Amino acid sequence: MSLATSLLRQQCYIDGAWVEAADGRTLAVHNPSTGEAIGRVPSLSAEEVRGAIRAAEVAGAGWAALTAKARATVLRRWHELCMQHQEALARLLTLEQGKPLAEARGEIAYGSAFIEWFAEEAKRVYGDIIPSTTAGQRIMVLKQPVGVVAAITPWNFPNAMITRKAGAALAAGCSIVIKPASATPFSALALAELAESAGVPKGVLNIVTGQASEVGNELADNPVVRKLSFTGSTEVGKQLLRRCADTVKKVSMELGGNAPFIVFDDADLDAAVAGVMASKFRNTGQTCVCANRVFVQDAVYERFADKLKIAVEALAVGDGFEEGTTLGPLIDERAVAKVNEHIEDAVAGGARLLTGGEPHPRGGNFLWPAILTDVSRAALLMSEETFGPVAPLIRFHDEEEAVRLANDTPFGLASYFYTRDLARAWRVSEALEFGIVGLNEGIISSEVAPFGGVKESGIGREGSKYGIDDYIEIKYLCVGGV
Ligand code: ADP
Repeated sequence: MSLATSLLRQQCYIDGAWVEAADGRTLAVHNPSTGEAIGRVPSLSAEEVRGAIRAAEVAGAGWAALTAKARATVLRRWHELCMQHQEALARLLTLEQGKPLAEARGEIAYGSAFIEWFAEEAKRVYGDIIPSTTAGQRIMVLKQPVGVVAAITPWNFPNAMITRKAGAALAAGCSIVIKPASATPFSALALAELAESAGVPKGVLNIVTGQASEVGNELADNPVVRKLSFTGSTEVGKQLLRRCADTVKKVSMELGGNAPFIVFDDADLDAAVAGVMASKFRNTGQTCVCANRVFVQDAVYERFADKLKIAVEALAVGDGFEEGTTLGPLIDERAVAKVNEHIEDAVAGGARLLTGGEPHPRGGNFLWPAILTDVSRAALLMSEETFGPVAPLIRFHDEEEAVRLANDTPFGLASYFYTRDLARAWRVSEALEFGIVGLNEGIISSEVAPFGGVKESGIGREGSKYGIDDYIEIKYLCVGGV
């Protein structure tokens, strides 16, 4: 298909210029729905990434020296331009990522909202005055930008995972070098084009593309980078954490999840079904807050499974551009293989496929959404993030068991539960070892709320009034002789 937009940029954006790799190396980008090549982006060398970091260092000083109000004005303009180009950005996103166009439009609105939010928060970074214990002395706390920030982002939300880092960084007065996922670089480059039009000064926001480890290692190792913000797999996050130790960088890590979704027997079952559909099947199951394990209490297990089956069979699998599609393709063959492996492993362990599981006639990266019942507690699905459209149903007997099973994971990002019992609502909310709890709610993402995990799911929070803190240093100023 032809893109009716000038937003498809096939060069990196460094120091306000659109550049190729000096040696001409490129990476191809494919449409996950059709397998067709969409275009190419440069594959930069470590030296070229260093150049981008230097540009960010130089430009950062001027950006930090602006008033917060001046930075906020630029960010607000960036937000407005993103929303003016919502349709073009959404089409680009569907083209490279595969999600249904309606979801892509939603992501552009959600992603843009972070820029708007942090434009507002930029003006509210307050310091403190602390009463001193010594006469003639004043104690103050100044808040200052951390400096050059590097961001490494995933392909599942090619727009929003960038804006929630870049919005906060720029608002705080930091400059940033962003490495988008190689599968979805075009959404990032389009954001840079709009940032330039909005008046973000050259060098303040840079986009570098290339081999993940070549570019990523430079971002993690370079001493000029004072903070690394990463969203992606726990495995890569741990590697980056280790590398960042050498220069003692600040880090924000949004890593994998293994979200439990608990349906108690006093729940509104229709609401719980709607919650699973939203949290499990959005983005074809490829979000780090997707329900991964669905625990259902004995008394309602069969009824819940029947209702969920009807909802899952109503999903429309197809190309994201086709009218009515509600479930797009997975991102690539590896993702498909992992989902199939999880299903086969569960079935070998005694699980039953209530629906789905067979190959989809479209082939390629398309899958039928599936429900598994009677899943054993030893199944891979229980311990690993599936990242695909499979809902495993696990039976439980009482509240204590549900909470114990839910917490039995090294991960701690999102969790969900449905109940109408007020006391249970409090007990379980407090007992779940997760950074996010959806109580009678399947969609928890919002720019005004703190997003982040505990345990091996990460470090730091993004969005909300807390999100800007990750990009700010606290300076203690002690004034004597007053
Ligand atoms: P996902 O499953 O979301 O692709 P990854 O952790 O593999 O999770 O990828 C998230 C981001 O991390 C992407 O931008 C990817 O290119 C990048 N990445 C992958 N491997 C490395 C690495 N070894 N060093 C730095 N970045 C990496």
